[in-house]
Amino acid sequence: MAEPARGLHVVVDPSKCAGCNICELWCSFEHEGVFSRSMSRIQVITYELVGLDYPVVCQNCEPAPCVELCPTGALSKGRAGGIELDKSKCIGCRVCSEICPYGAAMMDPKGRYPLICDMCGGNPACVAACPTNALSISGYAMVELPARSTAERFAVTELSKLAKGWGIEVRDDEGA
Ligand code: SF4
Ligand code: SF4
Repeated sequence: MAEPARGLHVVVDPSKCAGCNICELWCSFEHEGVFSRSMSRIQVITYELVGLDYPVVCQNCEPAPCVELCPTGALSKGRAGGIELDKSKCIGCRVCSEICPYGAAMMDPKGRYPLICDMCGGNPACVAACPTNALSISGYAMVELPARSTAERFAVTELSKLAKGWGIEVRDDEGA
């Protein structure tokens, strides 16, 4: 059997995102068995200033800082893309959450383990559930890693670029 493609990740088209949060709810249900936005591996950030939403999700960096720096080897690259967590090895130290350049590795609400996209075995629940096709799957592409950022900061920066492309004035000190 051929080696599966590596580096698959969820691609976001924020211009199509309606901010309905359905992706978050189905991600949570797929992984945790509950519909809870706070247990989702994808976070929809709303930038109130321009009225836009941006779903922040793991971009499966290569190499991935979270995998490289996890002190217990709890994280690994998944065969279907994404990052896999071995909960039995995780000590909840938050290193992965702090180092993620996209802010896409939130800790669970009780701080027990990180919520990182594992691509649902190759068929992500968020992509399947999105009613506007704002989410899709793509193979590996070289990207320049941004400076370490929170999910909010990353989303606002990306949405500011989008808004400016549409001719909407956004002051740099308010986002970009
Ligand atoms: S399901 Fe789709 S449209 Fe709704 S918030 Fe998520 S990405 Fe946006
Ligand atoms: S929180 Fe868990 S997965 Fe993340 S770096 Fe620490 S031990 Fe590794």
